Amino acid sequence: LRKKKIDPENLVEQIIQGNKTALSRAITLIESQQTKHQHDVNAIIEGCLPYANQSIRIGITGVPGVGKSTFIEAFGNYLIGLEKKVAVLAVDPSSSISQGSILGDKTRMEELVKQENAFIRPTPSGDSLGGVAQKTRESIILCEAAGFDTILIETVGVGQSETIVHSMTDFFLLLKLAGAGDELQGIKRGIMEMADAIVINKADGENQQPARQAKAEFKKALHLYPETESGWRPKVKLASALHHKGIEEIEKMISSYEKATKENNYFQHKRQEQNKFWLLQTINNRLKANFYDQPKIKAELKKQLTAIENNETTPFVAANFLFNLMKHL
Ligand code: GDP
Repeated sequence: LRKKKIDPENLVEQIIQGNKTALSRAITLIESQQTKHQHDVNAIIEGCLPYANQSIRIGITGVPGVGKSTFIEAFGNYLIGLEKKVAVLAVDPSSSISQGSILGDKTRMEELVKQENAFIRPTPSGDSLGGVAQKTRESIILCEAAGFDTILIETVGVGQSETIVHSMTDFFLLLKLAGAGDELQGIKRGIMEMADAIVINKADGENQQPARQAKAEFKKALHLYPETESGWRPKVKLASALHHKGIEEIEKMISSYEKATKENNYFQHKRQEQNKFWLLQTINNRLKANFYDQPKIKAELKKQLTAIENNETTPFVAANFLFNLMKHL
């Protein structure tokens, strides 16, 4: 079987026309770790860049079971009803270990996957969080070039993934459940500070009263935080993703955030800051990869590790040795 040769220019053209197959193909290239594709990948991203940026990027996080998929299904379909084009991406740190992925199970996005104006892409698997993040960030650019004006990025509420998704989105939405007792327990302070909104999901049936109570408690807690640079006060909302309740209000809230922060220029400022952050991040990633991927370094590193085990060298001498070796490659 001969693989079709990649023609980056042609692929970019098709992406810009909104061709989802081309978009998928390009993202697959981004996700392939093969250096032989690097040149094509760069050409595609560069070709798409002038058409990117016209979107709102929304991060959605919450513990497994909180209802992220269900929410995205309801929210995504609602947005499509407003004639938006919705792309759903994911950053899932656990997938690198389990090879499973959020969004892998699309059964909760039954309607959304069928929509012409939706594009759903599971998290790239088998990679470090940093690698996944970079690929997702590049995929955002491609999705935007393909005309998707709303980018939803799902992540699970563990580890570093929330910080990473926060650093590539305009609006960060935290899904919570009303639980018994202290609502604020078990919530990482850093996450609260990142959230532009907290949505208490499953506010239906017998859960309505506890949900209202949770809302009040979160509101009170958020009020203690100093005002942010954006001038936006994080909001607390109730929703029932399953019954499509509260969805419209959440859309209105995000729209008003977009309007306000575009007026006071924070929206643009934040994206610039994020771009700077990603430039540095990319340099770091590349430097690391360039170093560790060198066959000579790989071989020497092994030897140096053994030398350390045998107390024949120190970490600093060994590192110096490897860096000097790198200089002469
Ligand atoms: P995720 O792991 O965060 O993506 O959560 P899912 O979307 O897979 O939802 C987990 C479970 O919660 C599923 O059984 C959903 O049907 C249920 N669920 C999600 N949203 C709601 C809701 O608003 N109300 C109720 N009662 N159940 C919900």
